[in-house]
Amino acid sequence: MTIQLEAGIFQRLLNVDANINAIIIGLITVGIITILTVLSYSFEGISRKHKKWYVDMVLGLIEAAALVLSMILVQHIFKAINAGSSTNWFYATTQMTLMLYALYTMQNHFIDAVNIVAPLYVFGHHLAHENTNYNIFFVAILIVLAITVIYIAFHKNTLQSTEWKYLALQMIYGGIWWILIWSIYKFSPVKTIYMMSGFIVYMWAIRYVSKWIRNSFNNYNNMSEKVNYDELTGIRNRANFDAISDQIFKVYSHEKDIPLTMAMFDIDRFKNFNDEYGHLAGDMVLHHVAEVFHHQLFKQTTRGQLFRYGGEEFVIVFRGLDTDDSVEIIRNIRNELINDPLYYNGNELNIRISFGVSQLAPADRNFKDFFKRVDHYLYESKKSGRNRITIEDETFPFETNM
Ligand code: GH3
Ligand code: MG
Ligand code: MG
Repeated sequence: MTIQLEAGIFQRLLNVDANINAIIIGLITVGIITILTVLSYSFEGISRKHKKWYVDMVLGLIEAAALVLSMILVQHIFKAINAGSSTNWFYATTQMTLMLYALYTMQNHFIDAVNIVAPLYVFGHHLAHENTNYNIFFVAILIVLAITVIYIAFHKNTLQSTEWKYLALQMIYGGIWWILIWSIYKFSPVKTIYMMSGFIVYMWAIRYVSKWIRNSFNNYNNMSEKVNYDELTGIRNRANFDAISDQIFKVYSHEKDIPLTMAMFDIDRFKNFNDEYGHLAGDMVLHHVAEVFHHQLFKQTTRGQLFRYGGEEFVIVFRGLDTDDSVEIIRNIRNELINDPLYYNGNELNIRISFGVSQLAPADRNFKDFFKRVDHYLYESKKSGRNRITIEDETFPFETNM
């Protein structure tokens, strides 16, 4: 008897059941937040890859469906652990947290729509039973909420980076919801403060969880970045070139006034370095050529991108530059390379390079047409004796230090 009484007091003092429930709901919320975050990040990747409005629309609908499902799930869990009742401030807080979090994280307007119509879904049935004044009040609140949601939707990036703005917006968003809930449940002012504080604490915790998830994602993405770079030379590789080439074609074949020029170059008689001095010397030549081109290109223009296409073959893409401008840059870099010779075991390595250069033409049906022409011009330079540059089917020897 005594023991039972003590347990009862102990239970009441620590409010064990309520706290356990809070922990359960907290964990479930974090779980849902994680799933929504992973979904949103994966979808961003898919969307970036396809760049089609209908793909974006389907992904957006799935995201919105995931949010609605999460809310229904939370509702059922609350009913289960509160013996059939979900009229609990903690329940509302959880749902608001999920909705506001989705609004911040997911870049689509279906989520905005879910946020705007959610009060109608949750409390809409009260409309018919109440008087006209109440209905006007309800609609007014809906409009204020809609404005807030749209404001957040269009400013989420700046809002997320400033702590006080984030806090303020959260209080406004939470405040609107609580006014609505209060109009139905008429809870005390003390409880209102409790609920608002609960919501803010909840959102802050979620903010840290989501930051952590985002950082983990970014680290993972940086790892996959390595896939795009060549290990020996450190510059972009063939896979990266293939990935961006179609995209480049799409953009520049439509931009009639903005030129796109491509240069392909190949080290002359490279095999000789390998044969005479060994593979390490060959590697050193590749590294040196890539480094000089990378640095000089960076110094001379912001519009050039260098790739190691394979072996001792490289490609430069000049966005927004015509052949004249591009060739001038190529000549400068080439001269830098010749004037800064590489030594291996005291021997000067005589590095010479052949080039093919062409500008994207209206007749190019796809990137392959363009690429084949540049490749062919490089071949012309080789065939005419190497250490040459072929520009739109005209081959020139390099004047200096030939
Ligand atoms: P050309 O003037 O006609 O271009 O003659 P080349 O000797 O430069 O061209 P070829 O295609 O005959 O030989 C290229 C050689 O480059 C063959 C290959 O073993 C070597 N090679 C390819 N990749 C690497 C690499 O990463 N390191 C080294 N050391 N050699 C490589
Ligand atoms: Mg070669
Ligand atoms: Mg070659």
